[in-house]
Amino acid sequence: HAKRDGGAHYCFFTAQMQEVASQRLALGSALHRAIRDGEFVMHYQPKVHAASGAIIGFEALIRWPQADGASISPSLFIPIAEETGRIDPIGAWAIGQVAAELQRWTTLGFADVPIAVNVSALQFRREDVARCLGAAVDAAQIRPAMLEVELTESGVMSNPAQAIETLHQIHALGMTIAIDDFGTGYSSLAYLKRFPIDKLKIDASFVRDIATDPSDAAIVLAIIGLAHVLDLTVIAEGVETQEQVAFLVAHGCDELQGNYFSAAVSNDDAVGLLRRGPFCIETSGEHHDNRT
Ligand code: C2E
Ligand code: MG
Ligand code: MG
Ligand code: MG
Repeated sequence: HAKRDGGAHYCFFTAQMQEVASQRLALGSALHRAIRDGEFVMHYQPKVHAASGAIIGFEALIRWPQADGASISPSLFIPIAEETGRIDPIGAWAIGQVAAELQRWTTLGFADVPIAVNVSALQFRREDVARCLGAAVDAAQIRPAMLEVELTESGVMSNPAQAIETLHQIHALGMTIAIDDFGTGYSSLAYLKRFPIDKLKIDASFVRDIATDPSDAAIVLAIIGLAHVLDLTVIAEGVETQEQVAFLVAHGCDELQGNYFSAAVSNDDAVGLLRRGPFCIETSGEHHDNRT
């Protein structure tokens, strides 16, 4: 009887897995065409200085527009690009795109606004990741300090010894390093202390219920405290409400990022945001317009 149940489950999972596998295969070859035909677009989301509302940088987020106007999420296609061996050209494109945009911003009078690029775990483990970053900065003739690299905990913790070396290489080039989605992976505090990093990004999942869930509030406070003890900058991701802003500002979070201020926008709209100046940080009272 138990055996028959097991058999039934086995069949169920096989059918489901087959469907998932063939979807992945289809997406894998669509990705191949997308790389070849230059279908990707880079969007940019502002990062806001909590104390002043000033835009202190942007994060580059890849977009893959579809014929029907929809867009396939990078959280879906980046893992498939990794599994199907197509992350290298996408990663190289992303880095090149950000470097070119930094160059363009310099010519537009915004030479001091850094842009962060996400580097996937697989890409980070490539021996030539630092060389790839350095080559992009050289080609675009931009200051390396304007390029920030966002890495996930899993990317750096899977092989800490190698990670430390790569992180030092990236730092030696003059770039800054942030740990993305902090708190969702597994981080050894001992390694965190030794890693040459600059910033922790508090994952959006902890920020969401910050005002109502005491556990989330405590976790966020712990991350802010940890960051500051380690002399790191701390930024909250996925900030959507005025209550979240008030909480984060009151508890010393350095920077804020999320749809409350702006979603990721086109490169031209990002420059438009820079031209408009700082956001208004409201820490109390009713929220009307987050623009000054
Ligand atoms: P991430 O680096 O943690 O990026 C933050 C994600 O949160 C982005 O999703 C962003 O659009 C979304 N987000 C921003 N503000 C809010 C908000 O207020 N509320 C909510 N609910 N979400 C918000 P997105 O653009 O779909 O990207 C998902 C993930 O895909 C990224 O997570 C990153 O890991 C990866 N990714 C994106 N672009 C690239 C890239 O160029 N290269 C690589 N390797 N990975 C990328
Ligand atoms: Mg990121
Ligand atoms: Mg994140
Ligand atoms: Mg993420």
